Amino acid sequence: ESGPKELHIFFFPHLAHGHMIPTIDMARLFARQHSVKTTIICTPLNAPLVSKVIERDSQHGIEISVRIVKFPSIEAGLPEGCENLGSTTSPEMFNNFYKALGLLQQPLEQLLEECRPNCLVADVMFPWATEVASKFGIPRLIFHGTSYFAFCVFHSLRCYELLNTLSEFESFIVPGIPDQIKMTKSQQPSYFRGVDNELTKLTNLSVQSEQTSYGVLVNSFNELEPAYSEHYRKFIVKKAWSIGPVSLCNKDIEDKALRGNIASIAAYECLRWLEMKNPNSVLYICFGSKFVFPASQLLEIAKGLEAAGKHFIWVMKEEENINNQEKQEWLLEGFEKRVEGKGLIIKGWAPQALILDHNAIGGFMTHCGWNSVLESVTNGVPMITWPLYAEQFYNEKLVTDVLKIGVSIGAQECSRSIDARKFILKKEDIERYVNRLMVGEEAEEMRSKAKALKEMARKAVEEGGSSNSDLNALIQELRSL
Ligand code: UDP
Repeated sequence: ESGPKELHIFFFPHLAHGHMIPTIDMARLFARQHSVKTTIICTPLNAPLVSKVIERDSQHGIEISVRIVKFPSIEAGLPEGCENLGSTTSPEMFNNFYKALGLLQQPLEQLLEECRPNCLVADVMFPWATEVASKFGIPRLIFHGTSYFAFCVFHSLRCYELLNTLSEFESFIVPGIPDQIKMTKSQQPSYFRGVDNELTKLTNLSVQSEQTSYGVLVNSFNELEPAYSEHYRKFIVKKAWSIGPVSLCNKDIEDKALRGNIASIAAYECLRWLEMKNPNSVLYICFGSKFVFPASQLLEIAKGLEAAGKHFIWVMKEEENINNQEKQEWLLEGFEKRVEGKGLIIKGWAPQALILDHNAIGGFMTHCGWNSVLESVTNGVPMITWPLYAEQFYNEKLVTDVLKIGVSIGAQECSRSIDARKFILKKEDIERYVNRLMVGEEAEEMRSKAKALKEMARKAVEEGGSSNSDLNALIQELRSL
């Protein structure tokens, strides 16, 4: 035999930034291995997210292809151009978006027929992909996009049916998991709170496909949540590979700047600003790729930041700047000028990987999307946790109660952005949390724990590290099939 058997792996991410970004990193991680070719499937409007990164990789001899499938917006009752979960602005659009995902089955089959890959890595949001893969006689791996911890809590609560017996704010201990974790029903994702929609249906189907698929890829590393990666493999899914943090495959500035398709010029400006600040002195504030706060909350955040007086970088999504005139005037003219030098406001997309990597960053106010949490850990940055919806409340618990590298703002019930508007955190509280995270003994303790995790993360992906070994073992297994 001459070299190892050539592998071709298909990656089919859910069409949301929080799923596409780690999937791209993951595909690159595989493609860097000897004799592995990867293809990422996406839709026309999501393609730019992938193409620049891939172009850069191809200059280094790494082979990643992109295949485009048409997104059935119109067929699913969505406006044309709505191809990313982030562009849905109402519960109805949100629902239709998940319907549209189901319509991608046929185009996927066509692509598989054409390209005949050896393996399909498809997002957990495509439960039917397991059957599709089996038609072609290839293994389907699930990509979750969240922590072991979150999935352990999720499965535990499904099994025990405990939630049905509780009222909204009654607290309970999550049964059957390694730690004593206290939660309330109001912190549960919408599908656990009786919301009947496409996402709930999909979630139920995805549990079944978790059992029937070949295995699960997890963007985490065993040392981060050892008890939970073990628990998951023992009780939930036998075959799981920890291959994260996948964001660590972005090594240089250009790599990190390109993540999420940001213009590198903005990234360099941001870096220049950070260069002038002391280590651990800047708070980074970002609530993920799509969440938009109401004006009243933005004002409280702005006042709280100003009162706390710490340096900060605050990312606002575009809609936040154009929705409401009062907010725009206050924020852009008054606030931005007053905090000049102290605070940098980024409108739209921020080079998060680059920012969190800078040693001037000393804290991250985050919505606890898994990618954000993991990127914070990877860079040794403690957090103010402000979960909004989905499994973010679980990730919060991992950060604050298990890892002890975060301060919780005590967020409660929300079910996606529309309802999340009910909860407004006041200026005084924001000021208090910022100070707790950035200065004092507790802050130092959290920071040193976070720095230790950063080292573990780096070791995990190095040659011989746990994630690197899992990746190699998986590739070997796939070759042997
Ligand atoms: N992100 C970024 N710039 C932004 C907002 C988000 O680079 O302005 C990236 C972030 O680094 C992360 C992903 O987008 O990789 C967001 O994923 P996460 O799971 O944190 O949250 P979601 O957007 O899915 O709620």
